Amino acid sequence: MHYFLARDNHIFKFSAGETPVLTISSGDTVSIETMDCFSDQIQTPGDSLEEVSFDRVNPATGPIYVEGARKGDALKVTIEQIKIGNRAVMLTGKGLGVLGHKLQGMHFKILPIENGKVVFDEHTRLPVEPMVGVIGVAPEGEGINCGTPDTHGGNMDTRLIREQADIYLPVWVDGGLLALGDLHALMGDGEVSVSGAEVAGEVRVKVTLIKKLNLSTPILMNDQVLAVICSRKSLDEAVTGSVEIMEDLIRSRTGLPSEEIVMLLSVAGQVRISQVVDPLKTVRCEIPLQVLDNYGFKLY
Ligand code: CA
Ligand code: ZN
Repeated sequence: MHYFLARDNHIFKFSAGETPVLTISSGDTVSIETMDCFSDQIQTPGDSLEEVSFDRVNPATGPIYVEGARKGDALKVTIEQIKIGNRAVMLTGKGLGVLGHKLQGMHFKILPIENGKVVFDEHTRLPVEPMVGVIGVAPEGEGINCGTPDTHGGNMDTRLIREQADIYLPVWVDGGLLALGDLHALMGDGEVSVSGAEVAGEVRVKVTLIKKLNLSTPILMNDQVLAVICSRKSLDEAVTGSVEIMEDLIRSRTGLPSEEIVMLLSVAGQVRISQVVDPLKTVRCEIPLQVLDNYGFKLY
């Protein structure tokens, strides 16, 4: 079945307490309309927000209940298509992003999107690379606001979450409770200003339930790599976490000894920064699928 979900069905918190707005079965597709991360409140250069609170930004459309999903399963979410609007918004300012200590006031910038390019200013036009900033499921226990990434997914701001990628989200509560939003027309690794080119749009996903995959954090596969996405308090902890989880994933599926895997990751793998500006920092550990093929690796 194919469904459509309008953007007025949205949450600011991933939580088991949120009421599902749609129930689907494994294999269904959904076109999900999304607002930009400022709830579309910035329309002209003069507009401003009173404050940018991580509780009130990043509306995620959903949540979607997936029949049969139970703790220990995973939702394989295939990003089939991302359509974006024709203007994006950026933000930086005092206390925000990597240089928040040097900046005064709040600064918004509207970026037109023309012929597949983000118009930054009269000098710079950059090809769009549409991606999904926020995608996740409900965690156990207390909910988590949509501005924070963690083991449930959420605000991972990871450039690989693009068309044709499969993201595998660990299920923590019945039905999973999938939601997504915070599209970026373009974003650089790090997201140093605290925002990408924030844009409204629509994402078509296919959702497949994978029973008992027992993931501890989201992972992603595209046509090139397997990536473990890990969010922790510091970048150091996120690096350790992403490599640990990757090592565990490879060892449990190939039987290679740990020292071989870590040396393989040291020559063929890439540890990359996704973002450094959200309440937890996000790192990804990537390894080419071609290398994994040499050892007969199969995710499931
Ligand atoms: Ca974000
Ligand atoms: Zn964003």
